[in-house]
Amino acid sequence: MSDLERVRVWAQALIDHHLDGSWTFGFDNAKRRAGLCDYDRKRISVSRYLAARYDDDTNHQTLLHEVAHAIAGPAAAHGPEWKRVARGLGYVGGTTHRGETANELAPWVGVCPAGHTAYRHRRPTRAMSCVQCSPRFDARFQFDWTRREITAATRLEASTPR
Ligand SMILES: [Zn+2]
Ligand SMILES: [Zn+2]
Repeated sequence: MSDLERVRVWAQALIDHHLDGSWTFGFDNAKRRAGLCDYDRKRISVSRYLAARYDDDTNHQTLLHEVAHAIAGPAAAHGPEWKRVARGLGYVGGTTHRGETANELAPWVGVCPAGHTAYRHRRPTRAMSCVQCSPRFDARFQFDWTRREITAATRLEASTPR
């Protein structure tokens, strides 16, 4: 878990070092992507929700990803030029902005009686039934949850560009 003030300090240091003074940093409220580079507003932002849950290393990587977008420009997208800049900054992850919200990194796996799966980052606190089997809660289609180990290797694999 990261202290958000520390994330802000790193962000400002990266902006000072790599970009001009017209760029700013802020937190946003996204829940499904870790960071954003807004070229129109010249603003790099990081989800305060996800940043609070991620470790320092992950948050630093998110910042490098977004700063690389700011340097490479919108036309570069996630292409070779962006990749070159990102690697130069020390970014080792992939092209996703979603961080660890990816299913492959969720430790809780639920399986319904019909074999459908669901993923959660935290242990579900109440009974959940499968929406594919029934759009409303139905006790017959409850998920059976098990916790799996997410190893460093899985984490790396999930963040490697394909
Ligand atoms: Zn990106
Ligand atoms: Zn199902």
